[in-house]
Amino acid sequence: MQETKFIWFNGKLIPWRECKVHILTHTMHYGSGAFEGMRFYQTADGRSAIFRLREHVSRLMKSFSIFGTKAPYSHEEIEKAIVDTVKANISVCPEGYVRPIIFHDYGVMGLNPEKARVSVAIAVWQWGAYLGHDSVKVKTSSYIRLHPKSVVADAKICGYYVNSILASLEAKEQGFDEALLLDYKKNIAEGPGENLFLVKKGKVFTPELGNILPGVTRNSVIEIARDLGYKVIEKKLSLGKLKRADEAFFTGTAAEVTAISQVDDKLIGNGKQGMITEKIKQAYLDAVKGRNEKYIKWLTFVR
Ligand code: PMP
Repeated sequence: MQETKFIWFNGKLIPWRECKVHILTHTMHYGSGAFEGMRFYQTADGRSAIFRLREHVSRLMKSFSIFGTKAPYSHEEIEKAIVDTVKANISVCPEGYVRPIIFHDYGVMGLNPEKARVSVAIAVWQWGAYLGHDSVKVKTSSYIRLHPKSVVADAKICGYYVNSILASLEAKEQGFDEALLLDYKKNIAEGPGENLFLVKKGKVFTPELGNILPGVTRNSVIEIARDLGYKVIEKKLSLGKLKRADEAFFTGTAAEVTAISQVDDKLIGNGKQGMITEKIKQAYLDAVKGRNEKYIKWLTFVR
């Protein structure tokens, strides 16, 4: 990870290397925090813009609310803090990734976080192509996505990511680029850090909400695909349907739109990025980089 200059921590911008927590931080032991990932891009006129800031902060606040403890800053204050953090680092990082985290800090141990101090930190850094390739080979994981009755399925909680880590490690150990997690009913859920789409006979399909993270990129891609004239259907999808698809792709803040070339031992389509995937990807990149007026509504310009 490439260091930038400042990390916002509880209201102050602190030099990157000096931003520290105690070893007995509650969230470090129990995963009791919520976090986000968003990207900011350099747009056509040279200004940087954060993509869908409001939606990411809304999901962050909603995720953290599952603990019943109070975040020390409002939605508006966190939005402003994110803009300030991007600005403070823009000379070394004009385009990158933002990681805000709300967590239970040092002071109490034991599972009940009620009396724990709540802290907020925001860091930014450069992050290139998350999945490393234009198209990826995917392995159906032996781990299933967390059962919706074990957790609050649509929250983005630190501790949940052990599930994602195990699935990713397993896929990589077996020579694949990324994992695919099914849900407890054996339907397709999502990648460890991505939502999934498939294309069949010109129609675009994606798993319905309920047992996936409601991705901001997923939501953007649904709107973009519909604007491009494709029918988009949200429903339960079997692994068989994915393997018989003409095209498939992942979406996510980090992964953006990444084609899936293979699932287990089955090539998807001809094993190359499909035409509809390519169109949606281009339109998505145009949107995040401010090249399409229609989606300027999604950008928060920083300077
Ligand atoms: N699913 C999971 C499990 C994720 O961690 C992410 C990344 N936040 C996504 C899907 C995609 O969400 P988004 O498009 O909001 O980044």
